[in-house]
Amino acid sequence: MRVLDATGTAPGGLRAYLDNAATTPVRAEAARAMLAVMGADAPARAGGTFANPSSVHRWGLAAAAAVAAARETLATRLGCAPADIVFTSGATEANHLAILGLCRARARAGRHVITARIEHNSVLSACAALAEDGGEVTALPVSARGLLSPDAVAAAVRPDTVLCAFAHVNNEVGSVQPVAAIAVALRRAAAAAGARVALHVDGVQALGKVPTPYAAWGVDLAAVSAHKLGGPKGVGALMARGVRLLPPVPGGSQEGGLRPGTENVPGIAGFAAALATSDAAGAERMRALKLRLVDGLHVALPALAVNGPDPAAEDAAPHIVNLAFDAVARVPAEVLLHALEAEGIACSAGSACSARAPRPSHVLAALGLPGARLRGSLRFSLGLETTAQEIDWAVARIPPALAALGRAALR
Ligand code: PMP
Repeated sequence: MRVLDATGTAPGGLRAYLDNAATTPVRAEAARAMLAVMGADAPARAGGTFANPSSVHRWGLAAAAAVAAARETLATRLGCAPADIVFTSGATEANHLAILGLCRARARAGRHVITARIEHNSVLSACAALAEDGGEVTALPVSARGLLSPDAVAAAVRPDTVLCAFAHVNNEVGSVQPVAAIAVALRRAAAAAGARVALHVDGVQALGKVPTPYAAWGVDLAAVSAHKLGGPKGVGALMARGVRLLPPVPGGSQEGGLRPGTENVPGIAGFAAALATSDAAGAERMRALKLRLVDGLHVALPALAVNGPDPAAEDAAPHIVNLAFDAVARVPAEVLLHALEAEGIACSAGSACSARAPRPSHVLAALGLPGARLRGSLRFSLGLETTAQEIDWAVARIPPALAALGRAALR
């Protein structure tokens, strides 16, 4: 299910879809898996996987088996046991279940949470809800590359700290946090402070792009989402290992009672099928194409600057780059975005979740960038289906589009 056909043309004139961190097209493998469990084709209906996985007849058991197989696929990627996976409606819900569920369960031990200033709104809003309810949140600063320091995390631990929550890969600038080093520093500091501090990682932009052996790293909780890697929207999961959570929504006993409600079987099957198509080779392809984009743009735009990590460095995600077009710094990012849209290029100003509330990005602000940069910057993000033709189209079309905008801004 490609966005672009063989000649690079597509409905709506989309020539370069570079907004994969917002969402990805559904991969053919995921769509097929979903159709099969929806019973949309006759053999699946005969097999009966459209039934409710809680039903005890054999058709229900077939649906439960589809969910169990998907649970295993996810668990393998996260290095945890299948029983540690809780399917949810997406990562927003998974982040809330982790943060609020853990803090509610441990309210007597303490109500202090450590996070970072560059977090996705779903993490920041869960922390804000906690603070409103009498909890305390320390939001740590990051370096100009968008990195958290393990020492700073350790120094923030107090006897009443119960949780540390941050994203493995930042969704706006693509910085890759040193999760394993932070886990070690956190554990040591918690022992010294006499606290038990759970580590929650928002792994949405990491899964399928960089290694995610969360259990081996000592991560307790991790949120992931299907639609960032070729799966459907509206399905995600929380890895929860050996921590007690109080679920915000009470109900049935599905997902160990942590996420009641009939499982989204097609979504879950599509999630696993999409995940199975993402591997290290695909990530390397994305990284090479990302560098082709940055290097290509640099030739025509020598003043081009990168916000966040050096795109070629290890601590830069393979699929996200945030670029500052200083030549048109006085032009708001939304205007830049629509000028590129007119060229058939889809990208993003900030994160998709806050794109309709055009405030300067809190992530770019936390990197310490000057005011003009907060406006004139765009995020380009690649997916497994991004092609060299799309990148070359963007490299050819972006400089003249910006030049036209620059001339208009001077008038
Ligand atoms: N965390 C990060 C880092 C994200 O990029 C996103 C999606 N923009 C989310 C959480 C929320 O995921 P979902 O859309 O599945 O709720």
